[in-house]
Amino acid sequence: MNGTVARKQQPEQITFAPNFAAWQKVARRALANDLAPESIVWEELGSDQPALAIFNEHETPVNAPDTRFRVPRSFVKSASLVACHRGSNRWTLLYHLLWRLTHGEPHLLEIVVDADVHDFMLMEKAVRHEVHKMRAFVRFRAIEHDGVTWHVAWFEPEHHIVELNAGFFRDRFANMRWSILTPERCVHWDGRHFTFTAGVPKSEAPRQDAMEALWRTYYGNIFNPARVKTKAMRKEMPKRYWKNLPETEIIPTLLEEAPARVEKMFRENDARESEYSIAQPPLTDDWEKLREAGCACRACPLWKNATQAVFGEGPLDSEIMLVGEQPGDVEDRGGRAFIGPAGQLLDQGLSEAGIDRTKVYITNAVKHFKWEPRGKRRIHQTPNSRDIAACRPWLEAELRLIKPRVLICLGSTAATTIFGTGARVLRDRGQMRESKFAPKTMITFHPSALLRAPNEATSAKQYALFVSDLRLALESSKTATQACD
Ligand code: SF4
Repeated sequence: MNGTVARKQQPEQITFAPNFAAWQKVARRALANDLAPESIVWEELGSDQPALAIFNEHETPVNAPDTRFRVPRSFVKSASLVACHRGSNRWTLLYHLLWRLTHGEPHLLEIVVDADVHDFMLMEKAVRHEVHKMRAFVRFRAIEHDGVTWHVAWFEPEHHIVELNAGFFRDRFANMRWSILTPERCVHWDGRHFTFTAGVPKSEAPRQDAMEALWRTYYGNIFNPARVKTKAMRKEMPKRYWKNLPETEIIPTLLEEAPARVEKMFRENDARESEYSIAQPPLTDDWEKLREAGCACRACPLWKNATQAVFGEGPLDSEIMLVGEQPGDVEDRGGRAFIGPAGQLLDQGLSEAGIDRTKVYITNAVKHFKWEPRGKRRIHQTPNSRDIAACRPWLEAELRLIKPRVLICLGSTAATTIFGTGARVLRDRGQMRESKFAPKTMITFHPSALLRAPNEATSAKQYALFVSDLRLALESSKTATQACD
């Protein structure tokens, strides 16, 4: 039957390998041959079965017009997931929808109350859910295999999602050699290539290894006793997965200990809360006095790990004022704002925009460096809302003194300090707006965000926007009228 399509008496049987790509080919040909859904019986072809039907995915239909069937892109994407559903009616459903989409109902998928669309959406959701569960609940156990360490996991998926998830595990565990065994299909990664094999019984999966203890420790650490909702927990981690998860062994103990741990957490929280108050700057027009008072501030715990408070700097009659987030490692040691790598990039941007750094006032929303140790390094930690609120009076005192015509918020901490929590850098940057503190206020990137850009192209693009924002600020400073309180 090579190269031909035989038409039998209805219904007609179409055989194909049970995967989406194979079904797409035969479905396209069925459409080209104008086969209505009710005239087709879809027959999945096992690897050891010969083709039985009028055509299979390797054949070309007779007189098939060179027709391209147009369907919404979202249909193809969702259909590829529905194809992984265990339901035996999935191919019939997919073809039904395909037929209707290409026969006068191009907007069918928008009708969510339609029975076919409803079933289609439920199936897609079930597959997505199972994909997520497999990613969350696969646990590898290390075994020695031909002299190398191999990691093997056992999983029992409800749907045909092994191939669908293989790329995820490869990306996560690219440097490991691993196998995920399931009753229906197994996937193996040798560090370079995938291999798929037939399913195996659970008895072939290793039972215990040293990783188990690690998993239990990890789960014990992330378990939050204050948020224990056993119903929700069972929903997120359905019991049918428990038998393969080493950490579930400790759940009963964790639940038992939860009340005592919650009490301890509250006590610790109270202790932390008591370390916070709101800074109270002196009422003075003397910047030096203000800075001295700021250096002695103890309104939040950040001073404890910092070398010193870093106040703003620049002429007190500056027309432009820039606000960043907090001092970094270099600024904390040097005692001056924006003198580290981000500061150098800021200098470059200001210079390209035609702004003289010595003529602007530069400060931060939070005056002490917040960090955590990692080895010998001090790693920056973003200040939280309590840190920002405690420190805000110092920034407001600086704003009262400087009364800038143009205020530039560098990054999201500064933006939310000035405009509130609704401010977004990517969405709002480059727009001049009035704020409580300056007639012209703008959000732009923080220079350290440019340094952290994922690639050079993004970095270059963001830097160009950054400079153009600074240019706009300069222009605005020439035209703005002073309207600060
Ligand atoms: S970060 Fe601000 S509020 Fe906290 S101690 Fe330092 S100056 Fe005071």
